[in-house]
Amino acid sequence: MKMIGNVIISDEVWATKFSCDLNKCKGKCCQYGDIGSPITEEEGQRIKDNLINIKDMLSNENLELLKKGITIKDKRGDLHIVEGAHNTPCPLSFINKDNIVMCSLHSHCLKTNQKVLDLKPLWCSLFPLIIKSTLVGWIINCYIPDFCKSIDNPPPILLSFADYLSEIFGEKWVEAVRKEYRKNEERRMKNEEGRLKREEGKEQERGRG
Ligand code: SF4
Repeated sequence: MKMIGNVIISDEVWATKFSCDLNKCKGKCCQYGDIGSPITEEEGQRIKDNLINIKDMLSNENLELLKKGITIKDKRGDLHIVEGAHNTPCPLSFINKDNIVMCSLHSHCLKTNQKVLDLKPLWCSLFPLIIKSTLVGWIINCYIPDFCKSIDNPPPILLSFADYLSEIFGEKWVEAVRKEYRKNEERRMKNEEGRLKREEGKEQERGRG
């Protein structure tokens, strides 16, 4: 694992290159899962206060469901977004003309020039990254299910989410991450150069022999 500032980054996150390709995945992360996305009470309240702003994007059925309550509790008492039925699109979603499950909260923020993180739950905004706040700082893990599809030649997953991460941890933190990746790349190139030189040397020795 790696520690940058007070953020612990798992080895898997550090090594993963990934950037969501909505055209390929069709927004499946808003549809599949054991239960609705994890959410906090404050996030639920903000969504409730904004139902009026997103209602035109939602089906009547989903709107009625959400009016009864945005969240449900799991067995441990943790909050999740309410579900219409298991493995159906989130009630806060709508399907666009390309058959992609889209988030009404995200669309509303883009339309009104609001910061996405001000309305869309943190879990949803960063998935497939999973960040947790602990007593000693933050931990970043990731979980990339089969339905997640990346663009070709993606950057490191942390940099794909650089905008949101800089809102959460600050621009300096993201810059420190970039610097660390640059250092890694320089080290990798040096090692590669060394390897090639050693091989060249061996070839020359074989030639003399
Ligand atoms: S709140 Fe938005 S991003 Fe989160 S699961 Fe629902 S539709 Fe998807």
